Formats: sequence, C-alpha cells, structure tokens
Amino acid sequence: MKTHFHNGGCSDFCCLKVQNLSVCIGDDQILTDINLHVHCGQMVALIGPNGAGKSTLLKALLGERAYEGNITFSVPHEAKTKPKIGYVPQSPTFDPGDPVSVADLFACCLSSRPAFLGLRSGLRSKVLECLSRVHGEELIDKRVGTLSGGELQRVLLALALEPMPNILILDEPLSGVDIEGMTNLMDMLDEIRQTYDLSILMTTHDFSMLPRYADQVVLIDGAVKIQGKPDDVLNSDEFQQAFHMKGGK
Ligand code: ADP
Ligand code: MG
Repeated sequence: MKTHFHNGGCSDFCCLKVQNLSVCIGDDQILTDINLHVHCGQMVALIGPNGAGKSTLLKALLGERAYEGNITFSVPHEAKTKPKIGYVPQSPTFDPGDPVSVADLFACCLSSRPAFLGLRSGLRSKVLECLSRVHGEELIDKRVGTLSGGELQRVLLALALEPMPNILILDEPLSGVDIEGMTNLMDMLDEIRQTYDLSILMTTHDFSMLPRYADQVVLIDGAVKIQGKPDDVLNSDEFQQAFHMKGGK
C-alpha cells in the first residue's frame, strides 16, 4: 500500500492517479486492478451498482482502507504541503429532536484546530464565512435534524471545504435530495470547482446529472468496466450490463 505525494507529479495538471489498486476485505476481493485519473479542476463521477465497491474505493483514497497498488496525489509546483482532501460522507441521519445546531456542528469540527483555540467570539463569523461558500448563511442557527436533504448536504459540503482542499470526495451526495435540490447542489459544486480549481470525485446513482456536470465517468463493478465521457459511458454495453441486463445485485 503506497500513497505518494508529488509536487508536480505525473504531469503538473494531474491531481489524483490510481494505479493497479486492489482491495481485499477478509477473503473477499472487493476491488481488482483499478486504474483512474482525476485531473485538476475536473468533476469525475464514480458509478456502479450497489456493492460495486464505490465507497470502498473512496475509503482507500482517504487512507481508511488497506489496499495494494498506488495512489498518487499531485499538487501544483508552488505548493509545499501535502494535498488536502475534503470528504463529504454518505448522509448521516440526525434525529429531528436533536438540539445540535449547524453552528454547534461547526464549533465541534473547527474548534479542535489550533487556530481556533481561544477564538470563541470569532468562531461565529468563521462559521458564517464557511457557510457563505455554499450560500447557506441562513442555516447557521437551524437544528441539523430539521434540515432538508439538500440543506444538510450543503452544510456537510461547507465543512469539507474548511480548510479548502485540493480534492473533494463525496459519497452519494444526491441521495435523499429532491430533484430541485439536486440541480442546486450540482450547480454549487460546479461553481466551487471553477472558483477554487478543485478536483471533485463523487459517487452517484443519478445518471441524468452526468452529461451536464461530469467531465469523466468511471463505471466500476469490482473492477473498472468502462470510463470516459458521460455520454459514451451511459450509452455503452458495459453500462447496460451493469444496470439492466444482469441478475443478482
Ligand atoms: P458500494 O459503495 O458500491 O455500494 P461498497 O464499497 O460499500 O459498495 O461495498 C463493496 C463490497 O464490499 C460489498 O460486497 C460489501 O458487502 C463489502 N464490504 C464493504 N465494507 C465491508 C466491511 N467493512 N466488511 C466486509 N465487507 C465489506
Ligand atoms: Mg456506497
């Protein structure tokens, strides 16, 4: 298991390169020989049936799952630090009766960072600044359990963007979000991608969003079945086989 951090790397414009990645859990081979590239500022969608190994691949990228093969993160030449990864997990559920507010959630996540120690009075303005990146300042005093699916995703996204990462990884951000919320969230991700030249890797089952928003689609089912431009993948035999013509999963 090797994770490399390059200044420049495979090419100056490439942010994440996965080579020959395999994951076993116990005796089960979950992923075999995965190869993919996420270039700077690209939106890449990872699709595949349930149990295909999408979340497992994201966990390997986050260093939370052992793997064989190579993961290389490249950052611009001028950056001296390791690349930062922002992660939006598959939506957690909060009890509507839970008293935790959006501000409390941020306080808990941000105040553990040394820069915020002793800066309690400055914290609220910091939270507002974070929420402004997702146009969500009005959510600051809402209880997390009462947020709509789309609002919760925006809050989780704002948390993942502080500090601003080099690559953003989202696991099924569109599930539990209504159609209007989906378009809003994808528009927002697109805006953030352009504003901060951020690479985005997300899993999704909402294929209708892909032609408009994704630069590249990677279809996996234990291994990469096909990858390329959204229309090419969505019109492929591999896509038909993975989602329509196969029994089982
Ligand atoms: P996806 O996100 O594409 O739905 P996952 O990556 O969650 O798929 O799961 C891929 C396979 O790995 C599934 O068969 C799942 O049962 C198995 N798996 C995932 N996590 C674990 C685990 N912690 N222990 C055992 N098996 C797991
Ligand atoms: Mg999953």
